[in-house]
Amino acid sequence: MRILDIIEGTSVDGPGLRTAIYFAGCLHKCPGCHNPQSWPMDAGKEISTECLINMIEDAGADVTLTGGDPVYQAAEIMPLCRELKRKGRNIWLYTGFRYEELMA
Ligand code: SF4
Repeated sequence: MRILDIIEGTSVDGPGLRTAIYFAGCLHKCPGCHNPQSWPMDAGKEISTECLINMIEDAGADVTLTGGDPVYQAAEIMPLCRELKRKGRNIWLYTGFRYEELMA
């Protein structure tokens, strides 16, 4: 996965204190985007799913996936989310895709 940043103990990305994962890449170009530096798909660093899960577990908090748009890396975030749910973590995900697009 291409990750821009990981913020532990944030209180502004969902309920309670959370670990926020900022995924690289977004093609939506929303007017007024607050984070256009996140748009390049090759930004950030490559981090394995296993490494990310270990970091999240060490932090011991629920999780917010944001970016960029994490859904461009759906093949990687699906197993990540399954494992985090199995461990009982609450997950929020911010995306620019519509619900119908995600279901399709
Ligand atoms: S989905 Fe988010 S990161 Fe992407 S352009 Fe829209 S506001 Fe910016």
